[in-house]
Amino acid sequence: MTTILKNYINGQWVESKSVILLDVINPATGQSIAKVPEGCVEDVNDAANSAHEAWTAWRNTPANQRVQYLFKMKQILEANTDEIAAICSKECGKTFTESKAEMIRAVENIEVACGIPTLMQSTFSEDIANGVDEFVIRQPLGVGACISPFNFPIMIPFWFMPYAIACGNTYIVKPSEKVPMTMTKIFELFESINLPKGVLNLVHGGRGTVDAILEHPFIPAISFVGSTPVAKHVYMTGTSHGKRVQAQGGAKNAVVVMPDADEDTTVRIIADSAFGCAGQRCLAASVVVTVGDTSNRIKQKLIQLAKSKKTGNGLAADVDMGPVITLESKERIEKLIQTGIDEGAELLLDGRDIKVPGFEEGYFVGPTILGNVNTDSLVYKTEIFGPVLCIINVETLEAAIELINNNRYGNSACIFTRSGAAARKFRHEALGGNIGVNIGIAAPMAFFPFSGWKESFFGDLHGQSSHAVEFYTQTKVVIERWNEEWSRKF
Ligand code: NAD
Repeated sequence: MTTILKNYINGQWVESKSVILLDVINPATGQSIAKVPEGCVEDVNDAANSAHEAWTAWRNTPANQRVQYLFKMKQILEANTDEIAAICSKECGKTFTESKAEMIRAVENIEVACGIPTLMQSTFSEDIANGVDEFVIRQPLGVGACISPFNFPIMIPFWFMPYAIACGNTYIVKPSEKVPMTMTKIFELFESINLPKGVLNLVHGGRGTVDAILEHPFIPAISFVGSTPVAKHVYMTGTSHGKRVQAQGGAKNAVVVMPDADEDTTVRIIADSAFGCAGQRCLAASVVVTVGDTSNRIKQKLIQLAKSKKTGNGLAADVDMGPVITLESKERIEKLIQTGIDEGAELLLDGRDIKVPGFEEGYFVGPTILGNVNTDSLVYKTEIFGPVLCIINVETLEAAIELINNNRYGNSACIFTRSGAAARKFRHEALGGNIGVNIGIAAPMAFFPFSGWKESFFGDLHGQSSHAVEFYTQTKVVIERWNEEWSRKF
């Protein structure tokens, strides 16, 4: 019997009021594995009302009591890692190891948010004027919501949710309709935590659900992660409704290889960055910029390594790279590869038409490498979001930095070099929110904000750590005068 996923609202599993059901597809088989409601305004209303009602009692629960629930969340995720990771791999396609790696970062964010009693502290100035003290209080905003993409079904809501609820907000999670089963499982497991009803809610759906969240008067703060066009829409619509919005968008990340880089290490790290998660990572290396005479050696080594990556069902133990998320994605990626060739790029490795025995209906694209890519070409300008690596050669570090800085995205940029001076210049001048030096995926740990610049981010405060705490609190400044004479009169 087909499973129809339910929403979790006010501490109960409830059917969606929307009549339309969408298929959740296993991208390795092309088969439907569950149905998810398309979502509707009524579902968002119910979740927002429940979260709004729960808010007063929750914000008045002391912070050190609120974080006790987070300690339990961490234990639950750790105890059920394999089960959650298997569901993630099944609906998202990534390998079991990749799904488990997501869990580590999710747990790490919970751990950081457990420090909220300290992280929410703020400043106090005694005797700012005669007998006058002044201080700042951080208070929660109300109901927060997170709208997440398909490519990290476990991790991404944890960039926001643990901080929001630890700060005293109540919350709504809206997973991607393409991968809704993983978060459903996590919510089922979280039931045993016995959070007060309405503190944490799950609402399924697609665009209609998102738009209802963006317009709902009870939801003052929204965290979004997804593609740039949708991030822009979410930021503009949310802010035009008076909300606080942080919207992380798409990317086109360049990796610069200097002539002095340790070639074997560099190439191994780049291949993992470009082809891990089938290239469906916002921090994936998608452009290699070789500087000087390294180009040919790097190309040959990258081709050899990419060829050795086994593409297949992400749940199989010996597979390095799973399928892409949908048939449309596969077709779009393959079309872009052809566009690149038509634009004059050199096809160094072709991952189209790859066959995976036993998984003939799966959405597989093998590792693909395009050389001599032109910066004016569509294949360079577009976020491909698949296992396609473009290679460009330039003469100098300055030219490599200029190329990065002219790109409309600014999620991440990395450099491989043995030179401290080159690394320092790069990190100082490159316009990107997450910089890697001899690192292939510059993913900030939970103790740091997950940055992002230019069209990779819309807003001011990012997810994770101190930024998440600031985003999910508002500051109140108090100026107090206590006159001793008044006390004496009573
Ligand atoms: P997406 O933009 O299609 O969807 C993201 C979310 O928005 C989903 O929950 C979806 O239901 C909703 N949505 C989709 N279309 C919408 C619309 N027209 N109006 C309102 N809501 C809509 O993104 P995706 O394909 O799920 O994820 C891949 C994208 O996410 C890539 O561009 C990737 O770079 C980006 N991403 C960015 C980061 C980051 O930190 N910057 C992290 C992960 C993924």
